[in-house]
Amino acid sequence: MRKPVIAGNWKLYKTKEEALALIAELAPLVAGVSGVEIVVAPVFTVLPTLPAALSGTGIALAGQDVFWEEEGAFTGEVSPRMLLDAGASHVIIGHSERREYFGETDATVNQKIKAALLGALVPIFCIGETLAAREAGETFSVLERQLTMGLAGIDAAQLAPVIVAYEPVWAIGTGKTASDQQAQEAHAFIRGVVAKLYEQAVADKVRVLYGGSVKPENVKGLMSCPDIDGALVGGASLKGASFAAIVRFQE
Ligand code: PEP
Repeated sequence: MRKPVIAGNWKLYKTKEEALALIAELAPLVAGVSGVEIVVAPVFTVLPTLPAALSGTGIALAGQDVFWEEEGAFTGEVSPRMLLDAGASHVIIGHSERREYFGETDATVNQKIKAALLGALVPIFCIGETLAAREAGETFSVLERQLTMGLAGIDAAQLAPVIVAYEPVWAIGTGKTASDQQAQEAHAFIRGVVAKLYEQAVADKVRVLYGGSVKPENVKGLMSCPDIDGALVGGASLKGASFAAIVRFQE
């Protein structure tokens, strides 16, 4: 009942030409895949280059961040309307790299999610604990705080399109994937918090992706967990063959 989403976060990689080459490789490899939503998130400057190449492929485009104001004196920022204008339908918000290196907080994440929803973009809302928090036994309290603050002021109807991505920071780009059991435990907890903040029917519908060193070799196990509804993929999304193998996890 929850359609799986496989999203590729290209981070600070791929020029226009490189991005077009990747799509040319990827598109035929995922042609005919049904029942999975596929999303790729290039850098802002590449976004407007891709809609023509993606036309008819079923692959959607995401920004990697967004600002909450529509326009104004905000040097360096990009608004929801501008992302839409560039061809994006989704946007990653609150990625741990933005929280760690660019001062993103639960409060700014909340403003960005609200602005994205108002601008008709699908937010991919990232949460996840650091290694220190996990070792201190604070995983659940961190996840609960990030969810509660990130979703503050968003009602059940507005929440419907929101996709949550659970990305344990210690598993991102490190090659260390959470075990299926660790991931499932966190996802079930996240769904429980959504049920507490809204109601069970809302929690049953929200899609929760896992992110952190997802590869063709581990995707099947992760996707067999009942509360894992897809993957947010970094490194393995930069090559057509590995990303396509992840998209084709059902085969
Ligand atoms: C990410 O950037 O969201 C991510 C999960 O990266 P990786 O797959 O490389 O760990």
